[in-house]
Amino acid sequence: MILVKLSRLFLLPIAVTILASSAAIATGGGFHPLLSNDSRNCYMDAMNDACHSKYQPALAKLESLLMLNSVSVGIDTSTMPEDSATFSGGVDKGIGIWKNALPDSPYVRSTAGQKPTVLIKFVKDIDSEGGDLQGMIEAEHEFKWSGSGHTSKLVSTMYVVYRTEGRNLTENEVAEVVAHELGHLLGLTDAYEAKGLMGPFISGQPRLAPSASELEAVQQFREMVRAEIAKIEERI
Ligand SMILES: [Zn+2]
Repeated sequence: MILVKLSRLFLLPIAVTILASSAAIATGGGFHPLLSNDSRNCYMDAMNDACHSKYQPALAKLESLLMLNSVSVGIDTSTMPEDSATFSGGVDKGIGIWKNALPDSPYVRSTAGQKPTVLIKFVKDIDSEGGDLQGMIEAEHEFKWSGSGHTSKLVSTMYVVYRTEGRNLTENEVAEVVAHELGHLLGLTDAYEAKGLMGPFISGQPRLAPSASELEAVQQFREMVRAEIAKIEERI
């Protein structure tokens, strides 16, 4: 499950939304079924801005989807339970899963003393209805722009439930949960099939690579976003 709070300045009138989506379809920009609604909506917001010559907010939103600056991932060590010596390695492995799969993966491990962009908290359970049982990520993008410039800033907290079937997670299980939640940040939605990273967590059977279609969804979306950024930059 992902909770994305996107700061929005206005609500789109329905007619404008439809115009923007037909433009996306007309330019061949169909969305991959594994792409989350939050990512689609943010993309459509940006397209709508661009349609109205609001290029700076459009760029801020598109760049937030790509995560152009590296995204540091670190642990809130005060939440580390006993017997969790393998958890830090599991986080590294989770970051490594995306690094191996995606040449332009934004994720890096935070360095000591640095405040991570994605702060991982290990918890006993998550009080959520209908979400993932083993993890959750909250992300907030803050967009700022003027007539001539823009910034987007990401603040995110990831919750990893460290218990399964009466024991702590193994290193590989931590890696899977971390990579799953980072997959949400890349734009993926939950999948029902336990093939790649985005399916349900199965105790004792960690999956340590995205499926072909998950990777395709991420890469296709990043291509779409990059193409839009290039188009806008030509117009400015
Ligand atoms: Zn999920």
